[in-house]
Amino acid sequence: MEQWSESASAVNSTNERDAGARSRARILQTAASESPDSRAVLLSESPHYPRGPRRARRPLSFSKPCPGRFALSVSVPVVAANATSLLSPGAGLSGGGGERSATRGSEFLAGGRGPVGFTARGSRVSSEFDILGLHELINKFIFWFLMEASSCLCYQVHGFRLSKIWLWLFLALVLQNCNLALSASPYMVGMGSFDITGPAADVNMMGYANIEQIASGIHFRLKSRAFIVAEPNGKCVVFVNLDACMASQIVTIKVLERLKARYGDLYNENNVAISGIHTHAGPGGYLQYVVYIVTSLGFVRQSFNVIVDGIERSIVEAHNNLRPGKIFLNKGDLLDAGVNRSPSAYLNNPAEERSKYQYNVDKEMSIIKFVDDELGPVGSFNWFATHGTSMSRTNSLISGDNKGAAARFMEDWAEQNGFPKQSTHANSDNLRSLHKTSGLPRRVSNIIPEPNEINDDLIQLASSYEASGGRRLAGSSITRRIRSTQQNKPKFVSAFCQSNCGDVSPNVLGTFCIDTHHPCDFNHSTCNGKNELCYGRGPGYPNEFESTRIIGNRQFLKAVDLFNSASEEIQGKIDYRHTYLDFSQLEVNVSISAGSQQTVKTCPAAMGFAFAAGTTDGPGAFDFRQGDVKGNPFWKLVRNVLKTPGKEQVECHAPKPILLDTGEMKEPYDWAPAILPIQIIRIGQLVILCVPGEFTTMAGRRLRDAVKNVLTSGNSEFNKNIHVVLAGLTNTYSQYITTFEEYQIQRYEGASTLYGPHTLSAYIQEFQKLATALIANREVPTNFQPPDLLDRQIGLLPGVVFDSTPPGVKFGDVSSDVPGGNSTFNKGSTVNATFYSACPRNDLLTEGTFALVEKLDGSNSWVPVYDDDDWSLRFKWSRPARLSPRSFATLEWTVPEDAASGVYRLRHFGASKPMFGSIRHFTGTSRAFAVR
Ligand SMILES: [Zn+2]
Repeated sequence: MEQWSESASAVNSTNERDAGARSRARILQTAASESPDSRAVLLSESPHYPRGPRRARRPLSFSKPCPGRFALSVSVPVVAANATSLLSPGAGLSGGGGERSATRGSEFLAGGRGPVGFTARGSRVSSEFDILGLHELINKFIFWFLMEASSCLCYQVHGFRLSKIWLWLFLALVLQNCNLALSASPYMVGMGSFDITGPAADVNMMGYANIEQIASGIHFRLKSRAFIVAEPNGKCVVFVNLDACMASQIVTIKVLERLKARYGDLYNENNVAISGIHTHAGPGGYLQYVVYIVTSLGFVRQSFNVIVDGIERSIVEAHNNLRPGKIFLNKGDLLDAGVNRSPSAYLNNPAEERSKYQYNVDKEMSIIKFVDDELGPVGSFNWFATHGTSMSRTNSLISGDNKGAAARFMEDWAEQNGFPKQSTHANSDNLRSLHKTSGLPRRVSNIIPEPNEINDDLIQLASSYEASGGRRLAGSSITRRIRSTQQNKPKFVSAFCQSNCGDVSPNVLGTFCIDTHHPCDFNHSTCNGKNELCYGRGPGYPNEFESTRIIGNRQFLKAVDLFNSASEEIQGKIDYRHTYLDFSQLEVNVSISAGSQQTVKTCPAAMGFAFAAGTTDGPGAFDFRQGDVKGNPFWKLVRNVLKTPGKEQVECHAPKPILLDTGEMKEPYDWAPAILPIQIIRIGQLVILCVPGEFTTMAGRRLRDAVKNVLTSGNSEFNKNIHVVLAGLTNTYSQYITTFEEYQIQRYEGASTLYGPHTLSAYIQEFQKLATALIANREVPTNFQPPDLLDRQIGLLPGVVFDSTPPGVKFGDVSSDVPGGNSTFNKGSTVNATFYSACPRNDLLTEGTFALVEKLDGSNSWVPVYDDDDWSLRFKWSRPARLSPRSFATLEWTVPEDAASGVYRLRHFGASKPMFGSIRHFTGTSRAFAVR
């Protein structure tokens, strides 16, 4: 109940434009008093969700398999026509056998608001049944047969025998085909994604904790990407990858509440994992513990809402897309996308241990490839360890950094390669409506070849289109931009997930002093004793966008390579274990010399002095020194409650000198987490270890090996064929985890290992327990729950007061146009136009765009070809002065090499807040220009 009213008001307050969200909020409010099932029905009427038959969902319970939803292909190639026609009357199924059955199957599926039926049509009589439906069908058949047989029996014993033989033959046939279908498609797989870009102005960016790093535009959009894998008649798991710095406990809690309201116990804390890619270029303020929201002036409701909404919608989409499919696994080394940024700490690990590895960072990328039985490849998720710090601590454009870029590239690559194949019959209504609204496909330039020449006529044509001037726009018409028109089309989802990136930097050229250009000091990463002068250099140095592109491109190319050559099919059970632990006081048994054991403890969270020094990716991260104290009202609010650590705490953390005793700071609410989730997800021979922080390279290796040893010990079914990956920054965030030896060196990662020197040992011990429970098929009890601090959150970021333009100027008018005078632009050159604009926080334009490049098609129709999710187009927003109600939007388009020659213009969308009244949407275009 609480979450419904909360989400409703949240949506109202933030997404004025979002008609879907508004109507959902309205529905939620009216539904709040109704049962979960009636809520589900109401929700399915929301325009943002694919339509399905409006019948109440079957109640689902956790003890059941991901049920009601499992379709099973039953193909009866030879005698099927006979069989179905025989079946039809007796079983009460009439009509054309397969087709009628398919309708029935789709009802079952849509009962859980699943995909609208996926009927195979072809030469074979083929249909698909829900598994429960199939059982029902067989039961009905047996019942029918017994009735028939018993009536036969009255007359003729021989007839009965014949019928009986026939029955067994038929049942054998059905079951055999069931099994064939099952072995052909061991799983149901579903993919989904949704925009989580968030506020592109005024909000501090998450990661570097640089109070001056405030969002002011978008390079490309952030996404939540989800997959669901379900075992027919078995369990299911959800994995979500966020283009965000990390997962957040309060986000996870609220997403789980929404999933519970929507699906009952189907998706819960045990089988849902939410992981962050660790971009340092997304809006902050969505975490609940104080230390992570100091620089964002506390909690930012808008950041939080867009992430919770986006995760929910990506999971709903994945759920609705569940279809029979296979999963393949592959792995390979990517050598040039990460270096160790704390090599002196790594060197403190035992030489014998280090000698087992060729590199001081993990180079392996693991990928899973999802192949729909009918649509072919529908997505891939991979795990690879490298920090999301290709964009620097002074960047202000929202970006997914190198992993977000890689995902963008791979999804575009898939689109160009025709993945997924468009279903010939799935959801034809949606496809029809898609064609009605979308006009031309997204990247026109890639699809319609045009002569690479431009004549004087086109230049003349371009010069005849002046800037349009700003005009008001109905909010709802903005929602139909490039990507939102593709909502119901099967799409390829590719995620680049984070792993044990704790000490891995993407700035692979090494660290240099910005004054002398000499390498930094090896042990302390300083220049003449000062950490703030030492920076890591990316491969595009000094251009951070280029570094991001290159590191993203390397991951993308490796992923495509592994994707194309993936041949090991994932087979086996789906399973999971999850528990919450109190990391502030865990007893840990550690080995000391000669095999003897000692019991030690973790400590309440605390951060060391080196934490304030930051890293070579962002010196001075979380720098609480005077610069940040000054002028930060949130800090002022809480600084008086800073705590001096007691003797026990100091000893527990030694040799870490405590700068911030965050685990014992509780005012105005908890500064750091104590209760943390750990989770194992198993999909056949793939085992994903979900950890709530940034493991260093060696810490990750130790954990993976320890779990692998447990899982392959004894008569384990894993039988050595097992692949263990570590999913970092998952479900919540608790900073770093180093090895005991690295901790002694107290570099940034050691100083940020919150629970003392035995933090890693605690993880290993507890993960071993989870793994043991997994193979023993035992449940894992949990005695803890993380706190829900949403109601206590304090946010001091002021809202938008109002927007204005100079007298005589409208929102959307051009203030600085593309150069006129028959100007043309070559590929690779940059075109700019600046518009009178308004604060992007008025409407996040989620799943929409603030910027478009339009191309003249024919003589008088403009089609969108690039939007603000494209690498080539940047949306930059600015105010002339800090408190000014006036603002500008500059659209900056670097003409891609593969852009078609022709006539183009730039278009800006925005939403302004008047002094009185509601948000008003506007648009305007630049003058046209020719591209040759
Ligand atoms: Zn990090």
